[in-house]
This record gives sequence, C-alpha cells and structure tokens, in this order.
Amino acid sequence: MGSLADLHCHSTFSDGRLTPAELVDLAYRNGVRILSLTDHDIVDGLPEAFSAAERYADFTLIPGIEMSTDVPGNEVHILGHFIDWHNPTFLARLRRLQESRLNRARRMVERLVQLGKPISWERVQFFAGEGAVGRPHIALALVEAGHVTSVNEAFSLYLSRNGPAYVTRDRLGPEEVIAVLLEVGGLATLAHPRELLAAGNLESLLAVLKAAGLTGMEVYYKDYLPEEIDTFRDLASRHELIPLGGSDYHGLGGPQQKEPGDIPLPIEPVQKLLALARERGALERARIAHAR
Ligand code: AMP
Ligand code: ZN
Ligand code: FE
Ligand code: FE
Repeated sequence: MGSLADLHCHSTFSDGRLTPAELVDLAYRNGVRILSLTDHDIVDGLPEAFSAAERYADFTLIPGIEMSTDVPGNEVHILGHFIDWHNPTFLARLRRLQESRLNRARRMVERLVQLGKPISWERVQFFAGEGAVGRPHIALALVEAGHVTSVNEAFSLYLSRNGPAYVTRDRLGPEEVIAVLLEVGGLATLAHPRELLAAGNLESLLAVLKAAGLTGMEVYYKDYLPEEIDTFRDLASRHELIPLGGSDYHGLGGPQQKEPGDIPLPIEPVQKLLALARERGALERARIAHAR
C-alpha cells in the first residue's frame, strides 16, 4: 500500500544508497508527495534534496534529521522535522557528532582486524562517501572482503550492540537531543519503538520524553505488522503523541526493506504535524507543494 507521506528516509549523506536527488525522484515516482530526508546526525544532504524537490510542483519536502541517543541498555533514535538546519550552534554540534562517528568506526575496524576479520579503513571510507560514517559502511566492507554474506549477517555476527566488534560513541541522552531539536524549532518524534517495547521500558520512557517536548512517535514503520501498528497507535494516543511513520529507506536491500512510501501511514496525522509546525512558525522551513 502506498502512502502520500514518508517522514523517515536516508541518503548517501549517511548510510543510504541513493543520493538525495535520486531519493526525491524515487519517492515521487512511488506516489509520495510529502517527504522528509532524515539522515543520521547530518543535514548536509538537504540542499540537494531541496533543489531536486523543485522539479515537482506538487511535492512537499520537510527538512529532517535522525539523531542517535543512548539510554541504559538501549539505543533510542529521535527524528527531528522542520529543523532550522542553518543554525551555527546546531551545525557545530553535528560536526562533533561526525568526528565521534569517525573515531568510533576506526576503532571498530581495529577490533575486526584483531578478530581475524580484517577490512581496510579506506574501504569503509569509500562506502561512507561524503557523508556520516556508520556501521552499515563497515558491514559493506565486511561483505566485500568475503567475511560475511550480507549486511544483516555483519550486524548479527559482529556489529550489533552486543557484537564483538561493537564500540560505543559519544551520544546525548534522548531528552538532551529533544532539547537540541526544540532549540532549532524542530518537532521531535520517537523512531522505531519496537526494541524499546521489547525491552519493557517504553511506557516510562514515553512519559519522560513527552515531558521533554516529544510530539510524535513512529507507528507506521517499515515492517511493522498490523497488530504492532495497533499497539503503537494505542500507546501514541495514550501519551498524546502524533502517530507518524516512514519507510526508513536505506536502499541497501535486505528482507525488511520497504521503498519510500511503502507504509500504511494515513494522511491525517501528517496533517496534524504540518498544523503543529505552522503553529510554531516552523512550516516556512519546509518546501510546500505549490500546486493544489
Ligand atoms: P550507527 O549509526 O553507526 O550506529 O549504525 C546504525 C544503523 O545501522 C541503523 O540506523 C540502521 O540503519 C543500521 N542497522 C542496524 N542494525 C542493522 C541490521 N541488523 N541490519 C542492517 N542494518 C542495520
Ligand atoms: Zn541508517
Ligand atoms: Fe534509526
Ligand atoms: Fe533511520
């Protein structure tokens, strides 16, 4: 089922395979008319996405980001939409996060060498290209070197949080990240809550994050099943969070991959998000469809 909106996608500026322009084109071809590019801890792909959006009169592009945060025992990703991505303090903070990603990736490569699964730093850099380096780039180098057969296998054998090659990096807590996003006029949404539900601390976390200024939660995410969607919609409603969603498209393949727009996200919650952005004076930071 195709959705008119997709609020969570990645490009070559983080660990996605398509350039921002290619992503915009693919999303448009798939029927998406409201898109947000949400690369990991980086906004450098947004200029290209905005110029690509100009090709389509009936297309809205929301500036976005996905920020990684840590809670004890788990990772929490927060999406920021309608951010003022030119803010110098914000950009300086993102640069520091990029540096910490680089250092961490180098240390993971060293671990892999020690584990007898050598890959070269140059190949990781090659896969990362111009953007934020992440574990998927290390996974691609492991596949290329023949140590694993797929990105998924690289994660399950080496790179996951409990894997032998995993190294942590500097991260803010989710409340701090929400504050950072609010400072630049963004609207904060909790991404892919399934792991947090499984860990059993989602209810208390939602209460804390709501108090910190969270306004949305992903409910219509990638491979979530109808009964999971029901569970998360109910949770979002009880915590007065807008039930949003996205494909989290990376273009790296794999069994759970969904194309941009290939999620059952209804338009009403997206309209709520747009209305809230308007209320906060943030709507002007999106490129709004000019054809009606
Ligand atoms: P990083 O930002 O370097 O911590 O890498 C995290 C990213 O790796 C996530 O945003 C996902 O896109 C990707 N990822 C996490 N687990 C897996 C997995 N099992 N298979 C493929 N990609 C994954
Ligand atoms: Zn990613
Ligand atoms: Fe994520
Ligand atoms: Fe993502």
